[in-house]
Amino acid sequence: MAQIKLDPFSDRLLRWWDEHGRQDLPWQQPRTPYRVWVSEIMLQQTQVATVIPYFERWMTRFPDLHSLAEAPLDEVLAHWAGLGYYARARNLHRAAGQCIEHHAGQLPLGAEELSALPGIGLSTANAIISQSTDRPAAVLDGNVRRSLARHLALDGWTGQAAVQKALWAEAEARLPEERGADYTQAIMDLGAMVCTRSNPDCSRCPVSGDCRAFNMNQVEMYPTPRPATRVSSKRYSMLMIRDDEGRVLLVKRPPSGIWGGLWCLPMGETMGEVEAELGLAQVRTRPLDVIDHRLSHIHMSIHPALATSVNASHVKCSSEQTWLDPGERASIGLPKPVSELLSRINDGDIQ
Ligand code: SF4
Repeated sequence: MAQIKLDPFSDRLLRWWDEHGRQDLPWQQPRTPYRVWVSEIMLQQTQVATVIPYFERWMTRFPDLHSLAEAPLDEVLAHWAGLGYYARARNLHRAAGQCIEHHAGQLPLGAEELSALPGIGLSTANAIISQSTDRPAAVLDGNVRRSLARHLALDGWTGQAAVQKALWAEAEARLPEERGADYTQAIMDLGAMVCTRSNPDCSRCPVSGDCRAFNMNQVEMYPTPRPATRVSSKRYSMLMIRDDEGRVLLVKRPPSGIWGGLWCLPMGETMGEVEAELGLAQVRTRPLDVIDHRLSHIHMSIHPALATSVNASHVKCSSEQTWLDPGERASIGLPKPVSELLSRINDGDIQ
């Protein structure tokens, strides 16, 4: 049977993108390295529709590298609150500082230097370079990995080193000679709009002609699922102490680990551990409703309690501490369960 000769992958993809792709995203107007960088970091594990209002608020407050580097970390975290994975915000802040110190206040636009900055892997570096300079550079985010794994009918979990290597080689082999910015957006749009995680719309796909998974009628078999990860369950105690003005004691979490760098109610695996951190003993408390909170790898069962007998001036905290009016909770970065507890105080649900 005669084979139909198809145009190159990139030509078909770009033709489709010219007609159907996303061309009015806020970070595309203008597509500066700083704006693309912030958008790429926000878009990791987060949908475009969720990111847009965060991006716009961010750009109003931190319109450039300098304003981000000079801002207090607490304010940066407060602008991130709700997007999750706070290490991303801390890395943006640290990387901005490094650009001021070592790169004359600019994001460097070489893949090696860029991917040496905190929080920027090779795919993100290439996404920034291609979109802000129009130089073609291969990207391999989750959407692209999924589309390529299906197009190639590639066996093996896409997080495995050997599979990653094969995908990088393919991503590079498919690059066009020009229109680097549009191609990067196009291949990301293909995964986000057509070759979606569930129910890919193969009938609208511009590259279905040589998609192996589609042509073998095995789309649902690719990409190979990730081997199951173990989620552990852990119990935590949290203590809420209020002073005479109704303010609540918050302590700063260590920089790494759960909620690293965020302000939190004093927390530990037992109430005894919490009391020891605060220099208190046998605090009388009233238990509040248990909160179930899921992080990527831990199922947290949080047991909050309101202190009923503590004199605020007796607290001798071994970590950095502050007293916060619950009505001002939006001004600093707080974990979601803590923000919800403060909101309940503010609404009078907790007396
Ligand atoms: Fe994805 Fe279907 Fe297109 Fe193949 S044909 S790349 S499975 S949308």
